[in-house]
Amino acid sequence: MKNAALASSSLFTDVRATANRYAALLQLCCPQGPKSYSLARSVHAHMITSGFRPRGHILNRLIDIYCKSRNIAYARHLFDAIPKPDIVARTTLISAYSVEGSLKLARELFDGTPVSVRDTVSYNAMITGYSHNGDGHSAVKLFSDMRCDCLRPDNFTLTSVLSALVLIVDDELQCQQFHCTVVKSGLESVVSVLNALISLYVKCAGFSSSLMNSARRLFDAMPEKDELSWTTMITGYVKRGDLDAARKLFDGMTEKLEVAWNAMISGYVHHGFTLEALEMFKRMRSEGIQFDEFTYTSILSACANAGLFRHGKQVHAYILRTEAKPAPDFSLPVNNALVTLYWKNGKVDQARRVFDRMLERDLVSWNAILSGYVNSGRIDEAKILFEEMPGRNLLTWTVMISGFAQNGLGEEGLRLFNRMRIEGIEPCDYAFTGAIIACAGLGALEHGRQLHALLVRFGYDSSLSAGNALMTMYARCGAVEAAHHVFLTMPYMDSVSWNAMIAALGQHGHGAQALELFDRMLKEGILPDRITFLTVLSACSHAGLVKQGCAYFESMDRIYGISPGEDHYARLIDLLCRAGKFSEAKNVIETMPFQPGAPVWEALLAGCRIHGNMDLGIQAAERLFELMPKHDGTYILLSNMYANMGQWGNAAEVRKLMRDRGVKKEPGCSWIEVGSKVHVFLVDDTMHPEVQEVYRYLEKLGLEMRKLGYIPDTKYVLHDVESEHKEYALSTHSEKLAVAFGLLKLPRGATVRVLKNLRICGDCHTAFKFMSKVVEREIVVRDGKRFHHFRDGECSCGNYW
Ligand SMILES: [Zn+2]
Ligand SMILES: [Zn+2]
Repeated sequence: MKNAALASSSLFTDVRATANRYAALLQLCCPQGPKSYSLARSVHAHMITSGFRPRGHILNRLIDIYCKSRNIAYARHLFDAIPKPDIVARTTLISAYSVEGSLKLARELFDGTPVSVRDTVSYNAMITGYSHNGDGHSAVKLFSDMRCDCLRPDNFTLTSVLSALVLIVDDELQCQQFHCTVVKSGLESVVSVLNALISLYVKCAGFSSSLMNSARRLFDAMPEKDELSWTTMITGYVKRGDLDAARKLFDGMTEKLEVAWNAMISGYVHHGFTLEALEMFKRMRSEGIQFDEFTYTSILSACANAGLFRHGKQVHAYILRTEAKPAPDFSLPVNNALVTLYWKNGKVDQARRVFDRMLERDLVSWNAILSGYVNSGRIDEAKILFEEMPGRNLLTWTVMISGFAQNGLGEEGLRLFNRMRIEGIEPCDYAFTGAIIACAGLGALEHGRQLHALLVRFGYDSSLSAGNALMTMYARCGAVEAAHHVFLTMPYMDSVSWNAMIAALGQHGHGAQALELFDRMLKEGILPDRITFLTVLSACSHAGLVKQGCAYFESMDRIYGISPGEDHYARLIDLLCRAGKFSEAKNVIETMPFQPGAPVWEALLAGCRIHGNMDLGIQAAERLFELMPKHDGTYILLSNMYANMGQWGNAAEVRKLMRDRGVKKEPGCSWIEVGSKVHVFLVDDTMHPEVQEVYRYLEKLGLEMRKLGYIPDTKYVLHDVESEHKEYALSTHSEKLAVAFGLLKLPRGATVRVLKNLRICGDCHTAFKFMSKVVEREIVVRDGKRFHHFRDGECSCGNYW
């Protein structure tokens, strides 16, 4: 005790020497890092125990060390104990706050500094703070305050303020003004200042290409260029899509800079030049230039998007071979790119293996694997993953909602959309799109309308994806006028919008209007694509416009250079068969440039059924039995054809064949939306709570219909699509129950809209024609193939389905 007191008193007597010793010790802590910080802390501890009170530059040094070791609170504590802190201490803290992103605290300290003591360094600290934290306006404002205070900017000031200006610049004039400032400051040959100036010109070059030339002149005149100069210039060209100029500059580089290679590769990838990117990647390897995470993520996403799976796998193998112990900031983005590569190429299980092996995952990783499951239709696994996720963002919700909608799980999609809102997440237009598509699948028109209203309230009514989805929804729910209204009021349209509207008109039997719209599309200079021709051919087929359809088919290749695919041929066959032109149809099948597949034979079989062309129908059915022996539709169509011709024996044989092969019929069901609730009916339903009332109503309606000449068609009743066990009993089909329920429950005069999973049967089709006349209401039925609008005793399909 005595010794210690002595020691400290002797230290105290020679304060100057002690201060020098401490200063020297702190000087040793100069290299940054945890080791020197802990050394500095023990020096400070020694000062406290020995009673030495640091002042002046020693205290400033300590504040600096605490700031750099991220203990700003303690640094502030030291600072607050100083009666009159000098500008060095103030600037140290301002910089520390800025780095941390606490701009408010930094600014308070800056404003508390008397104007007389402010210097260029303190201004620089504050301007850099704004610039690094993305607040360009405040940085530029402070720069002009600085000049009012008559302080000369140095190269740090100019570099910072120019980088800040890059964030906010929106006109050419600002570029030129700052260029003048740089020239006046006499710092126009400092590399960092020039780099910042070039980057300012490059940013502005979005508005005019002459600015790009100004940037290039500055670049060419630079006495020395560093890595940043090259990459700024190359990236500038890449961003403008001028890949040739970028490449020329790149090829003229004297030394091969890794970043410049990456800029070039990512430019190629971004603009879809996958092969060029791969070629650069190979050259990089042969020239021995180090790859980093940016190189790998660019090249992997190129492979993922272009479907170059083999290349991508090779890159993966190379990474495994060469990167023995990758750092986390390398492996996270690279693994995310790998997960995407695998799922986009349909290899979800491999994607999952990469995902499972990742030591660290972020939202990007989770969303990637989720998208993988959703896109391959593995919804159950996606659902589990969704619940397991540690966090979710808008993309997560949207992927899952659309996933449900596109896989026929509309109800779950809508439930998730509601849950999203309950959890306080504001849906984006893509989430709305998913929910609207869910309504389209369910035929939930009322719900779809509510979503439409909500969409407008959220201000997404000009969204392209949502607009296209709304059109599809209204059309699929049978409200073709509403679809048309959306089409007319959409501010932006793409070919998807036109296709959707043409399809809507075609499906609802407005063939002529569909073709008119197609003409308008051509006149407005929008190029038709493969889908457009599918919808146009369908429209011709639904409306029986054979000659026009054939002409359009022929024009595809001749005028638009689109070679017809199998689905186009199937539509052509459908079109020809509808008109009973079987020899033409046969001729098309024989001269097709490829082997006809199931869609072509299905179209032929359907046509043969309508026209009772037994011979050709059997041929088509036999091909279909070979191609898809488990498909129930073929057996049912063929057996119905036999039944139609009164060939009961053959019909029974087809049925037996079906049973022998273990082919299960998809049970028929129909559904209708009443009061925002979807009601489902099965054949001879007994489950629906109000079904007895429906049967009674149907009986009453039947009497009225018979008075107008309706005779139940027993052929269909005997060998129908639905009644497995009741072949000889009169059964009531699901669509009849749903329509009757709608007539009972919907407001007077309202259109009845029913959806059925399978093709509508002949008897129901006839019955609905009579019903529409008896009740004087429109009945719309969407079956597995098309729409039927029954109005005043007629159907829009013209009895062809
Ligand atoms: Zn029926
Ligand atoms: Zn019809």
